Amino acid sequence: MVIQPKTRGFICTTAHPEGCRANVRRQVEYVKRQPKTQGAKRVLVLGASAGYGLASRISAAFSCDAATLGVIFDKPASGSRTASAGWYNTAAFEELAQAEGLYAKTINGDAFSKEIKEQVIQTIKSDLQTVDLVVYSLAAPRRTAPDGTTYSSVLKTTGEEYTNKTIDLKTKAVSEVTIPQASEQEIADTVKVMGGEDWLDWMEALQGAGVLAEGAETVAYSYIGPALTHPMYLNGSIGMAKRHLAKTAQEITQKFGGVKAYLSVNKALVTQSSAAIPIVPLYISILYKVMKEMGLHEGCIEQMYRLFHERLFADPVPVDQEGRIRLDDWEMRPEVQEKVSAIWKELSTENVEQLADIDGYWADFYEMFGFGLSGVDYEADVSADLPIPSIAH
Ligand code: NAD
Repeated sequence: MVIQPKTRGFICTTAHPEGCRANVRRQVEYVKRQPKTQGAKRVLVLGASAGYGLASRISAAFSCDAATLGVIFDKPASGSRTASAGWYNTAAFEELAQAEGLYAKTINGDAFSKEIKEQVIQTIKSDLQTVDLVVYSLAAPRRTAPDGTTYSSVLKTTGEEYTNKTIDLKTKAVSEVTIPQASEQEIADTVKVMGGEDWLDWMEALQGAGVLAEGAETVAYSYIGPALTHPMYLNGSIGMAKRHLAKTAQEITQKFGGVKAYLSVNKALVTQSSAAIPIVPLYISILYKVMKEMGLHEGCIEQMYRLFHERLFADPVPVDQEGRIRLDDWEMRPEVQEKVSAIWKELSTENVEQLADIDGYWADFYEMFGFGLSGVDYEADVSADLPIPSIAH
């Protein structure tokens, strides 16, 4: 079939297998051009099919020559529907890894569930014996806990409601949006979904099964950002979950002798998850403009390569006063933030195209679904039905 993008709200309901392959290949080639990393050799990546998790898996495999086991929650093609982008990304990743003789297997299912934890443990036992790095990169709207209760996360403030600028990326109209205040229940539920409880469950399950290597590391991802996003992010319901994640990092390090847990604070980037947060896409479009002009722009793969090559396996691991790895160091440079904040003040529908990188935002958005990549023939008839080698029956 000929596959075209079909967007609905902030998601694209189609994905292009060849485009996703080109996107993964571009990231693999970027890493292969960089110096190799002496790091982990057997890596478990939870949330491995897109965004930061996929880029972590690519960095582990192609910079550290690591065997990778990925957990994803994606859909194969069915009938006239294409597979999800994460499915195609994973198929491409496995092909490229296996072509270089690297072990790469994937388990598709709900990472929050006990069943998937058990499957992962069985796979590690039979194939890898232990893992020496666990990357926790889930971004999910809901979580079904082991007792069957489903919790949903919300993107709201926690103090008062907050009004600021936002953009309708389709019409490029800048307007004001008021973010409502989350209830206590909504905050607690968001912490259940995006906080550290499930990360700890994973680490306990892996440790209990004896599949964590001595001195293993684990890392989860967080965000801080500038003051203008704080009511929405750092001090919003998602920020409360991230605080819990930070506490969990400390708890894991204290509780599991020899295991080091880190929180890595990453740059704001277009991913399927960040596209859903009010205010943030407008901030990202301005940030892209400023960082590209200053020659400081990075995407997920540049960020994750830096995490693997310069942070996670350095001795000692460079961290801030609160023990966090900072990959948002370039985003948070005063000269970057001063420019962003000056633009933010004067931004309106009339000048948004000059002052913000809306085209760059959209290019990244479509690329996530395999559209707009050079060298891909989007008029060609392609088969949507692409197996993931390790999942093919
Ligand atoms: P993403 O949407 O690109 O990726 C999320 C991944 O989680 C996908 O592979 C998805 O399939 C997987 N996933 C979701 N639910 C799952 C489930 N139940 N079981 C198994 N897999 C599941 O998101 P992202 O932006 O890469 O986010 C990853 C982490 O990075 C999150 O913790 C996020 O808060 C953090 N982060 C993101 C940004 C940003 O700007 N995008 C910045 C800093 C930190």
